Amino acid sequence: MKARGLSEDEVLAILHEKREQDLSYDRIFSSMCTPAHPIALKAHQLFQETNLGDPGLFPGAAELEQRAVKMIADLLGYPDAVGYLSTGGTESNIQAIRAARNAAGIRDGNVVVPRSAHFSFDKIGDLLRLEVRKADLDEELKVDLNSVERLIDEKTVALVGIAGTTEFGQVDPIDRLGDLALDRGLYLHVDAAFGGFVLPFMEKKWRWDFGVEAVSSISIDPHKMGMSTVPGGGLLFRDGRHLDMLAAFAPYLTDNRPTALTGTRSGGSAAATWAVMAHLGKEGFTRIVRRCMALTDQLVAGARAIGVEPVLEPIMNVVALKAEPSPEKVRSELMKRGWLVSITQDPRALRLILMPHATRDNIDLLLDDMAAVMRQL
Ligand code: PLP
Repeated sequence: MKARGLSEDEVLAILHEKREQDLSYDRIFSSMCTPAHPIALKAHQLFQETNLGDPGLFPGAAELEQRAVKMIADLLGYPDAVGYLSTGGTESNIQAIRAARNAAGIRDGNVVVPRSAHFSFDKIGDLLRLEVRKADLDEELKVDLNSVERLIDEKTVALVGIAGTTEFGQVDPIDRLGDLALDRGLYLHVDAAFGGFVLPFMEKKWRWDFGVEAVSSISIDPHKMGMSTVPGGGLLFRDGRHLDMLAAFAPYLTDNRPTALTGTRSGGSAAATWAVMAHLGKEGFTRIVRRCMALTDQLVAGARAIGVEPVLEPIMNVVALKAEPSPEKVRSELMKRGWLVSITQDPRALRLILMPHATRDNIDLLLDDMAAVMRQL
């Protein structure tokens, strides 16, 4: 830091220059984030300086957080669910497994997750000193229940199912995982960080939320398909006792038993999440999801027309394309042409997310470039 500060104009000039180096979302097909809805931005700005880590000072922000949690609880099929708005899927997953571990009272335990689980579960193993056991997937890339069953033992503190896998957008058989969890008396966490704001608005109805009796907690991210601002996560528990398992003692705060992982946390995203949910309603989210699915269909049909098959018929707005012989090469050629796409690990494929910022025109342009790249290979 310099002794004498820069003028506001000088600082703004640097900020604008740096912002221009950032990519614009319209050519990004690799991210599960999207620009927030305008009303979410307004709400965030209004509440950005509020701190939900000390909610008694900001009762308005705290009420909006709890109203948003209530709306999410309704959406997830259990209006009495309790929880809080976190910084994202990683924090929600950490906290859910921490609650399960504390409830089980086992310190050197294990957690059984699908092989398709997000890498946040590897962090969880490290942070919570749990062994993360990875269950095999079936040919549709859903978790294989026999494999889950084989990995459970007396030290298992939780099972995890995913509603919208990061790489393929697949939904695990949560109801059958639930049967297993009930049978073994185990905690079941559902990671719906991505799918949570997609599945409730699809025509096809899945059994994946609190409607499945054994589901103990759900991660759901407003900053992904919830159109809210970053950082916007959500963690809901069926049973308030699990939320209590996370409480620390902070006598100097207005809430002396905080349960969030972070201390200071902005009420901006909480206000944004409440605002966008209140404004769009189920109709608005249904329109957004329908449009994303129409774009998904457009991409898959276009890819097929140039001889590129999807790994799976898309379940949600996540597409994995075989792009043989080398998805990596196709990716790097597309990146040279300004398209941000990613790849999956197993099986290897080109991965594209059709977020609300995607457009029909850009998908056509991307497909033209993909056809040209495929011809070169
Ligand atoms: N869970 C799933 C299924 C995800 O897809 C992601 C991120 O893509 C996460 C968790 C982690 O979310 P975050 O990046 O908000 O921490």
